[in-house]
Formats: sequence, C-alpha cells, structure tokens
Amino acid sequence: MILNINDLLMKFPIFDTHTHFFPPRMFGRIWQYFEANYWPIHQKGPIDSLVNELVSIHDVCNFIVLNYAHKGGIANSLNNWTHSFCSSVGDGTQAIPFGTIHPDDVNCELETERIFRELNFAGMKLQLMVTSFYLSDERLLPLYQQIADYDRILLVHIGTGPDHSNFHPSKTLECPYVGVQYLRPFLERFPELKVIVPHLGANEFHEMWTLIEEYPNLYFDTAMVGVKNNPAFDDPLATIENHELEELSDRLMFGSDYPNIPYPYQNAISSWLDRGMSTSFYQKLFYQNAQRLFRTYS
Ligand SMILES: [Zn+2]
Repeated sequence: MILNINDLLMKFPIFDTHTHFFPPRMFGRIWQYFEANYWPIHQKGPIDSLVNELVSIHDVCNFIVLNYAHKGGIANSLNNWTHSFCSSVGDGTQAIPFGTIHPDDVNCELETERIFRELNFAGMKLQLMVTSFYLSDERLLPLYQQIADYDRILLVHIGTGPDHSNFHPSKTLECPYVGVQYLRPFLERFPELKVIVPHLGANEFHEMWTLIEEYPNLYFDTAMVGVKNNPAFDDPLATIENHELEELSDRLMFGSDYPNIPYPYQNAISSWLDRGMSTSFYQKLFYQNAQRLFRTYS
C-alpha cells in the first residue's frame, strides 16, 4: 500500500530532525555563501514566515534547530539566540534546541555545561565540513563525555557529502576533516554517546550503515538525500534497494535541512512516500524514532 501524506498525518505528525535557524543577519550571509558555493535557496524570508510554513503548511509538530559557530568567540551568543528562538515557538509546536561550540572558544566545557544544565538543550551539533577542525580535537574530548553524562545527543556532519555537482561541477569538496575513517574510532572511544550522522552518512553510505550493527546509539537523518529531482545533485539513493533501507528503519529519522535547500520542502516528503516502503518504515522515519530519542522534549 502506498501512503499519501494525509494518510500518514492521520497517524503521526512530522518530526523534522534537521532544520537550521540562525540570527537574521547571519542567516542572510549564510544564504549568500550557499548561493555562491552550493545551490540556490528555494525559500528565503523572515524567520517567522519560515516557521509558519514549516508548522502550518507542512504540519511539522517537532523540529530540531541546528546552527554552528564557524569560529571561536561566537558560540555563546548563538546559543543564547537559539534558546530564545526555540522558546518563542509555541502553539503546540516544539522547537528543540541544539547547541554549538568551537574548539577555539575559551571555556568550552563551561559553555557546554551551561547549555545542558541551564538552557536544557537536547544536544550539540558539529559541522566539520565548514568549521575546520577534527572530531578528535583534544580540546573537545571532555565535551563528548559531558554530552554522554547528560544523556544528550551529538549530531555531527562527519560524512563527505552531500555535494553540489550540478551547480558547481568543477569545484570539488575535498575537506580533510570528514570521512567515515574518523567516525569508527570515535564510536569505539565513546560507545555510550548517542550520535546522529546527517544526510544518511553521505557519500559513504554502506561504510556508515554497517556501523549500526556494532553501535546501538548511532542514528542517521535523511537531510537532502532520497529527494527526487534534487537540482543540486542526483539522488544517491536512487540505486539503493528498499530492503537495505528497511534494515536501517530503527535508526533513521526524517530531516529536511530546511530552509537551506534548493527545492520545495514537500519534495523531500513526497519522494520518500513514492518509494513505496512499508507503513511501519514511514511511521518510524517521520515520527516514532525521533519521538523515542527525544522523548523528554516531544
Ligand atoms: Zn544541515
């Protein structure tokens, strides 16, 4: 049976585990950077209208709010902004904050303590593709233990993708800080830490996915992959068989990367529904897995 979105919403609302919201001026600069280096942003606008679109048009009931400090000295103010932004989203919708840190920050451990103890953030995001440090940076090691001790979550862009081959075919994304070779030793060192790898582990899908057998606290979000007619790059899941994805079904969570995407939000949802996966797969993907992982927030 192929579900349509209305069938799905009768059963569950949408839990989006990967959205980005930044302070307005920073958002503008990020969009400029994206459009020069990655892809055009389909929907830009005031933050209120972006949230309204997510909640009222797409029926998203919970969303994870991510941002990242690309240099030292700004994490504290970004975390404060995220806290007040998430607190301002109401009317039955839950905006769930993730914090940011940069190893050049003074007092990384104090800031981490603050965002969990005082601000009650759900986790921490690291975007290694743009922040130029390694996951194994010694200055961050105490933080990982703090995240585990608080039973919060680390979302880390450790994969080599997604790329932007359709818009900038001549630019290669060679970043020394990412790759599955860094994830395995990290998980060995912190097996109790809950880790989300975005973009389904792109571009090293199978190498990433095999890690779930050994590491029960490893999850993936689907941001920007599995989207048909994605103008940025050809869908890398087009050649992956449904049964391979069904095997991951307890560890997958829907994420959109909204609003930093070059297509309408709905395309991501409808592309997944068009794959003809099982009903239980969709229930887990769009809501249940995230609801379980973030049960104290949703
Ligand atoms: Zn993202």
